Amino acid sequence: MPIGAVLGLASALFTALVTEVYCHRCLAHHAFRPHPALAAALGGYFRVVVGTDPETWAAVHRLHHRYADTPLDPHSPRLGRPFTVLAGSAYLFAKARPRVPAGRPRGPAALIVRVMLVALYVALLGPVQVLIMFAVHLVGYLGIMGTVNAVGHLYGRKPHPDVPGYDIAWLAIPLLGHGYHNSHHAHPAACRTGPLDPIWPLLRAMAALRMIELEERRAGSAAAACCDASASLVARP
Ligand SMILES: [Zn+2]
Ligand SMILES: [Zn+2]
Repeated sequence: MPIGAVLGLASALFTALVTEVYCHRCLAHHAFRPHPALAAALGGYFRVVVGTDPETWAAVHRLHHRYADTPLDPHSPRLGRPFTVLAGSAYLFAKARPRVPAGRPRGPAALIVRVMLVALYVALLGPVQVLIMFAVHLVGYLGIMGTVNAVGHLYGRKPHPDVPGYDIAWLAIPLLGHGYHNSHHAHPAACRTGPLDPIWPLLRAMAALRMIELEERRAGSAAAACCDASASLVARP
């Protein structure tokens, strides 16, 4: 396999991981509190690689939760456009962006770092490998995001019949916990989406290293009840 493809795949997976852990569980749903240094590192990485600010991503995602599967949902596959949701995450995000408060202007730092990184990769690998890397990254990252949004609202079990989305347990592993999409809509602030959630051991390890503080550790908080409820409800037959 060309080195560009390997690096593109690794970059797509790592960026999907940062999106899920920081933008989704932390910023959009407050499942944990990050150490300020970790928040700065993950937020900086997301701005440089994805090209937008994580707070805007989280705000658009909250629109999805608020209006899921209605005409105001930024990316519902149930409104006659499953392929657009599967392949057009970037387009649908750009369309929804004006509906949320604009993120704070942060200057050209992310753009400068991005240009420097591309120049470094071109110098190290050559332009062809960098083009392959860019293409594989784009298809991989947007493919994971699109699959979560499309499949999670079309197929599977519905342990929570009154809320949107479906659960397909085995998909939780490749989709970073989102196989339990119906359970996620039922308990969006849960630290753990279900028994096969691959992000959960990572969050536990980060908590043990004091990189994050899991909300479930705060006795008596609403988030604690949410975590407990999610763990038990997703285990229903
Ligand atoms: Zn959803
Ligand atoms: Zn969510």
